[in-house]
Amino acid sequence: MAKIAVVNDFVFCLTHGSEVCNKCYFDHRTTNNQRMKKQLSKAFPKLSEQDLLDRPPLSNALVLALDSGKKDPSGLILYQCRLHNTTNCKTCFDWINLAIANLKKASTRGNVIAIEATREEKLGFLSSMGVELSPNTRLPEEAVDKRLRGAIDGAQYFYSVIDEVPVNPASFPMWSKTDPENKPLVLAVRRGNFAEVTAMLKARGENPFPLYQNAFMDVRQTLMTLGKHFDDGHPEAVLQDKGHDYAICMRVLEVRKVALDVPMFVVTYGRGAHNQPLSPTFGWISDVIARSQSNSTKIGFPQIISTPEEQNLLLSILQVNSKRLSADYVPDLRKTEKRFMVSFFLPIGPLSQLDIGKLANCSGCIVCGNKTISKCSGCLSVEYCGRDCQKLHWKEHKPMCVSLKGGTWHTVTVSTEAPEIRIASLLEGKPLVANYLNNQNPFHPSAYKSKTEVQSADPTSLPPNIHGDRPFLVKIQCPFNPVLRSLGGSMLIYDRQRSFHAHFSAADDQATYDEAMKQPGMATQLKIYRWAKRVGDCQLSICFDRPPSKDPLW
Ligand SMILES: [Zn+2]
Ligand SMILES: [Zn+2]
Ligand SMILES: [Zn+2]
Ligand SMILES: [Zn+2]
Repeated sequence: MAKIAVVNDFVFCLTHGSEVCNKCYFDHRTTNNQRMKKQLSKAFPKLSEQDLLDRPPLSNALVLALDSGKKDPSGLILYQCRLHNTTNCKTCFDWINLAIANLKKASTRGNVIAIEATREEKLGFLSSMGVELSPNTRLPEEAVDKRLRGAIDGAQYFYSVIDEVPVNPASFPMWSKTDPENKPLVLAVRRGNFAEVTAMLKARGENPFPLYQNAFMDVRQTLMTLGKHFDDGHPEAVLQDKGHDYAICMRVLEVRKVALDVPMFVVTYGRGAHNQPLSPTFGWISDVIARSQSNSTKIGFPQIISTPEEQNLLLSILQVNSKRLSADYVPDLRKTEKRFMVSFFLPIGPLSQLDIGKLANCSGCIVCGNKTISKCSGCLSVEYCGRDCQKLHWKEHKPMCVSLKGGTWHTVTVSTEAPEIRIASLLEGKPLVANYLNNQNPFHPSAYKSKTEVQSADPTSLPPNIHGDRPFLVKIQCPFNPVLRSLGGSMLIYDRQRSFHAHFSAADDQATYDEAMKQPGMATQLKIYRWAKRVGDCQLSICFDRPPSKDPLW
């Protein structure tokens, strides 16, 4: 049962009041756009349906609303406005005009934000953030850019922390060091645990973009370093690769407090490259050195080692944000910064599964996203728009195709909780474990803040489908305990991205359980890898009799 609130015909998260909820994995813009289809297409005749789905979401809907104590015929709470005490008030809950105004504001600064990176770089950045598209994808450039912008927003939890674009940093209070509520910036900018993320990245096995594997991690590390330096009284930094080929010169102009534990670093920056001797960074560096010599407390400025890939990802992030700065914001720049850009960054953490699912899922042809007309006749699992795309994809698809040919698919109903735990929690009268991997991205701010709280586990809910209808590999582990094994105890099933952890026990389906148990590898290694498809919220279709050509490394 979805936890939704309907206010004046628009759907919001009941718990958090927002149209898009990263905490509950809801995106109600699809539903709500249906309710204003005509108005949207009239106001934005040039925008595609997808553009409209990407509009800035409505937030804080329930701040203005009061539970009227009444319910509608379908049992949903009826809300009235605080101002006029009117149920579903057309004035206070004027969502259509609000949504249109927000989208207009967002588009005045140039709706299309070009990112100056090569296509391979962009795909590599996406992969480093967990959004894996084929290296051969023929998705048009705009579509790749749009996904990268979406991933950058997701990593900054942009719409969870910023209500409106354009943003004027001056509208937020300064981040005061003396306020005991504010952590040192090095800690405030941190999101998630690096050891965990490193383990996750390692677990991903072969990566088609090895160069970019860590660009995302590196950027996050660098933001912490910049926070540390700012804490120590150094607003300037030079990010440079070991070969000194590329550099970003950056000065933190100010740090504003967007929310608790969410600092906004407003920066000015310029890029230098070995093949651009006239770059504005040279003058800037000599100026900074001269300033530091006249001020004995701050000698020099910090240098941060940063690969060219990391620098490009950071520049992409800054570029996306720079277009969202309000024209009313006038920063105080030095003479040597006249040719610099101004932008801001927010803390960055891993994307939510909802974001990954949305950004990685190409409907249509697996290569180009166009309408499909044919299926691979070998495995019947992948669809194409025609021969060209199929040919282009063959090298990548072959190992999967060959191993799937002629296999039998079994539909398995899984649960997010092991039955052993379900029973134990019933006995205890409360959920025993934090249902961490399923309902919460452990790195998302919501989890990060409430790490000590035990989340109640909902055994019937699986997280959003990040794989679409395409096959992906799952690891199936049988119970380590031989007694549990002989009793048909639950197997653990999960994918490489750990987008879900599911359990399957003999009690759920004895015949399929036996089929899984008899696979070679189960007896010796207690685990097997198999191709699976998500066929329902709690249903996986698994091809047990066709192992992959070689076992992956996770
Ligand atoms: Zn929510
Ligand atoms: Zn009202
Ligand atoms: Zn195609
Ligand atoms: Zn095939």
